[in-house]
Amino acid sequence: MIEPQPAIEPAPRVIAADDDRYNARLVARSDEADSLAYFTVKYDGDGVPFLPGQYMTIGVMANGRLVQRPYSVASDPGVCGTEGYELYIRLVNGGQFTPLLWDLPLGHRMRMIGPKGKFTLEPDDDRIHLFISSGTGNAPFVSMMRAMLRDGAARRAVFLNGVSYQHEIGYRTILEGWERDGTYPLTYIPSVSRPSAPENAGWSGRWGRVESIVGPVCDELGLTPDNAIAYICGNPDMILAAERTLLDRGFPEPQVKKELYWPKGKEPRGAEE
Ligand SMILES: Cc1cc2nc3c(=O)[nH]c(=O)nc-3n(C[C@H](O)[C@H](O)[C@H](O)COP(=O)(O)OP(=O)(O)OC[C@H]3O[C@@H](n4cnc5c(N)ncnc54)[C@H](O)[C@@H]3O)c2cc1C
Repeated sequence: MIEPQPAIEPAPRVIAADDDRYNARLVARSDEADSLAYFTVKYDGDGVPFLPGQYMTIGVMANGRLVQRPYSVASDPGVCGTEGYELYIRLVNGGQFTPLLWDLPLGHRMRMIGPKGKFTLEPDDDRIHLFISSGTGNAPFVSMMRAMLRDGAARRAVFLNGVSYQHEIGYRTILEGWERDGTYPLTYIPSVSRPSAPENAGWSGRWGRVESIVGPVCDELGLTPDNAIAYICGNPDMILAAERTLLDRGFPEPQVKKELYWPKGKEPRGAEE
């Protein structure tokens, strides 16, 4: 009889403390939940200007190989030289990069390149901005709003963010504060998708996956192709479903801008978005 073999654990990866390719440093970290955290990475020299909505690629050398991934910047471009680039990241169980990042001590050196990306605000478009996001897909919208506030040119926004559990709503305090005190002309609508989960007991906000509330919110707030432009970011299935809803309501394709965090059809290996 063949004895069952114990599962072989992969050898832990060793992150290089220094490397010629390192040009930045992890300068701040704040945890939102078990698998969600805000990280700030700063270039050794001057900051490189970026447009809100763009992303930076950060990485470390692990077992002699550069492991790097792109992340939307959440901070105001105005502080990239002094404070660095704030990123809002989910830990993906079994992922290549995020488990390395979660183990990285503050002050550790890193590789960073960027900015890149075309998911940026349309210049001078003063229609209502419908921001639709799942999970950490809210990050670029926070950067856009921070930048518009600094410029004294806030554009009216309706901000949807879908999560599985209420404790996963990132930037909630800032966004609720802006809405409450009128700092930003904002209607903020976080939505929680698992009504039977004990963690969601007491949630008094909106229920449902974010794509399922796009149509109802458009009806309630009177958002139409004439008065609104949509930006969608995060999970690809959510993005394509939300886009379909908007196209069916007559939004022309260029009026629905999208940033997919991974290719459609590639299953999450670990934590769900
Ligand atoms: C332009 C761009 C901007 C991005 N910005 C962000 C960001 O601001 N915050 C962020 O958390 N991620 C962001 N991502 C995703 C990020 O680049 C990585 O894919 C993610 O951190 C997983 O990396 P990994 O090496 O740990 O997993 P990998 O080993 O690369 O495994 C990738 C798989 O994990 C799943 N996955 C990827 N991202 C997530 C996620 N957020 N939640 C659940 N499952 C996921 C998908 O199935 C994907 O195919 C962005 C991606 C792109 C293309």
